[in-house]
Amino acid sequence: MIIGLTGGIASGKSTVSALLAAKGARLVDADVIAREVMLPGHPVLAAAVQQFGSGILQPDGTLDRARLGEIVFKDPEALAQLNGLTHPAIRKEIKRQMYVYEEEDPQRLVVVDIPLLYESELDNLFTQIIVVYVPRAVQLERLLQRSGLTREQAEGRLNAQMDIEAKRKRADYVIDNSGAIAETERQVAELWDRLGLPC
Ligand code: ADP
Repeated sequence: MIIGLTGGIASGKSTVSALLAAKGARLVDADVIAREVMLPGHPVLAAAVQQFGSGILQPDGTLDRARLGEIVFKDPEALAQLNGLTHPAIRKEIKRQMYVYEEEDPQRLVVVDIPLLYESELDNLFTQIIVVYVPRAVQLERLLQRSGLTREQAEGRLNAQMDIEAKRKRADYVIDNSGAIAETERQVAELWDRLGLPC
C-alpha cells in the first residue's frame, strides 16, 4: 500500500514519517530526491548549467544554491524554467522508488513524504494522502525555533506555500501534530489500524 504524506513547512512531516517508519513503513523522501538531481554528474544539474550558466556552480562543481536562488526567486519565468527541468526528474524518481518498494513487499506500507505535494501537483500519484497539520501560528513558532530565520523571513516561507488549512481540506487523513508528541503518536497508531496494517 502506497500513501502520500505532506503538510506545511515545520508542521511535523519528518516527525510523523519517523513514527510511521518505526511501525514498519518504508519511506520515500522527496527532499532527498530533489537534492540528488542537483548533484554533480546528474543530467538535471547539467541542464540547469546550460540554462543559467556556470555561475550557478561553486569552484568545486557543486551547485551554488544561494546563487541559483538569487536568479529564480526574483524572476518567475526563470523559476518556471528551473521547475521544468527538475520536476519531471523528481517525479520519475519518486515513482520509481515507490513502485520498487511496493513490489519488494506488497504488504508493507510505503510512505512518500513530499513537502510540496499539492503545489507541485503530485497528488495525482496517490489514491490516499495524509496531511500533517498544525495551525499556522504553531507552524510559525516551530519554524522560528528550528531555524535562524527572522519572523519576517519565516512568514515569507509560509506565504510561499499553499495555506495549511487548504491542505487539510484536501487530505484523506489528517494527523494533528499541534499537541504533545505522545498525542501525535496515538493518532499515528490509530491511522495504522484504520489502514488495516499489521501491528
Ligand atoms: P517538517 O518535516 O514538516 O518540516 P518537523 O517534523 O521537522 O517538520 O518538525 C518541525 C519542528 O517542530 C522540529 O524542530 C520538531 O522537533 C518540532 N516538533 C515536531 N512535532 C512536534 C510536537 N508535537 N511538539 C513539539 N515540537 C514538535
